[in-house]
Amino acid sequence: MKAKIRKYPYDLKIGFRLRKSSFIELHKRAYKAQQVDHLEVCGVLVVDEERVIDLRYLENASRNSYEYEIRLADIAEIELELRSSGEWILGTFHSHPVSSAEPGVGDLERGFLNGVELIHDVCGRAAKLWNSSEAHGEVRAAEIPLAIIEG
Ligand SMILES: [Zn+2]
Repeated sequence: MKAKIRKYPYDLKIGFRLRKSSFIELHKRAYKAQQVDHLEVCGVLVVDEERVIDLRYLENASRNSYEYEIRLADIAEIELELRSSGEWILGTFHSHPVSSAEPGVGDLERGFLNGVELIHDVCGRAAKLWNSSEAHGEVRAAEIPLAIIEG
């Protein structure tokens, strides 16, 4: 997934924050999709100057179970909208209907817009944020701190 999306320019390791209301909505939507043939929800992570993540849901272009596909045109549209706002597209997110919030091989190959992916585990009711990096021809993911805050 390589579009001309500006890369978040600040340090990722400090971590990010997600409002409790955003987390609850994510879980509700992901659970609902899971109940329909184990579908996934997906979208982009928009982050503001306070490092608070806003989840922007996009249509899952894949109709298959356990899969998600985000159209580049949908991401590009949000990027354009954010250009003069002080907000950034941090990466992408999707849900796992029955598996843990760790990225699978396919996620590492096709997800991780600009190296960042948030994954929500529906069964475990847990969201984790990941940063991918490549070393010696191998792509790995390391967890980035994600705090759930009031609001
Ligand atoms: Zn996945």
